[in-house]
Amino acid sequence: MSRFLAGKYEALEAYTPGEQPRDKRYIKLNTNESPYPPAPSVAEAVSREAVEGLRLYCDPTAKRLKEKLAGLYQVEPENIFLSNGSDEALNFAFMAFGGAGVVFPDISYGFYGVFAQLHGLPYEQIPLKEDFTLDYRDYCHQNKMIVIANPNAPTGMSIPVEQIRQILKSNPDAVVVIDEAYVDFGGESCLPLIKDYDNLLVVRTFSKSRCLAGGRLGYAFAGRAIIADLEKLQYSTNPYNVNTLTQLLGAATVDEEAYYRQRCREIMDTRRRTKAALEALGFQVLPSQANFLFAKTEKMDGGALYRELKNRGILVRHFTAQRICQYNRITIGRPEEMDMLIQTLKEVLI
Ligand code: PMP
Repeated sequence: MSRFLAGKYEALEAYTPGEQPRDKRYIKLNTNESPYPPAPSVAEAVSREAVEGLRLYCDPTAKRLKEKLAGLYQVEPENIFLSNGSDEALNFAFMAFGGAGVVFPDISYGFYGVFAQLHGLPYEQIPLKEDFTLDYRDYCHQNKMIVIANPNAPTGMSIPVEQIRQILKSNPDAVVVIDEAYVDFGGESCLPLIKDYDNLLVVRTFSKSRCLAGGRLGYAFAGRAIIADLEKLQYSTNPYNVNTLTQLLGAATVDEEAYYRQRCREIMDTRRRTKAALEALGFQVLPSQANFLFAKTEKMDGGALYRELKNRGILVRHFTAQRICQYNRITIGRPEEMDMLIQTLKEVLI
């Protein structure tokens, strides 16, 4: 830390992203990326002409991409906010709507606590139940900003949209953020509710089901007023937050809906088979509607298992928080990668 850092940031603990090692080739099951490449036509969106066009600033309104997304999801372009990864949309949401305080589960996406600290917001983490289910009644009548990942990370578990409706109804004066980063892997989207509730913000990403984590493209849906608020902060921070190439990649992605739906089906199928194989090895595996599994075994400490797998070339994600330190979060890769994982676990656990 330099002596110049503002005092209010001294105690801030930055988010630690999952490892992206370049030292050797791992089977990489640690950051919930897609194991599949974008659709072939997406690569063609970045032509020589497009690169030459980079001498100009990008379209700050991202008109074409917004119109395509609006068509796909049956909303108006004014209901869409675009961001540099969904982390950025979440950051603006905390900045804009968290003034009265923020409430989110104790076990969820680690960035929520970082954003609250970054913006100096009071926040409360409500414990999930013993079995990691979320009791929606804990979030009713809070009248503070509520943030729920649905499906949740790192558990993979989800709540029904009807429960989200109850949360929205009982917090009319606070924004309810539903982070749907993983919704395309079998969850139920609450997007239709933006028509009924002006306090709902649904945050999504191209990083998981759209195979574009490195492109950094997030999007969010809400009523026009919430979107206008987010854009006010975005234009006050970085009017060009989604660069030209990413806008092109995103638009080409929207045109390939069938390709991505098929990839999601494959991932869900691999998830089902991997869960069964892990259970056959004695793992306890939480039910998942996401592109990862959260699993533990009595046979080996969670951290030790993570290290042993890493030594053998397989990266998974281990968290040190006391409630979940016996678990590892395993991204669903290609079928042959998951076969390698199961084979390696058999060797490690004998
Ligand atoms: N929300 C959740 C629940 C996540 O797990 C992630 C991925 N780390 C994100 C949001 C952010 O993803 P991105 O910024 O790549 O869109």
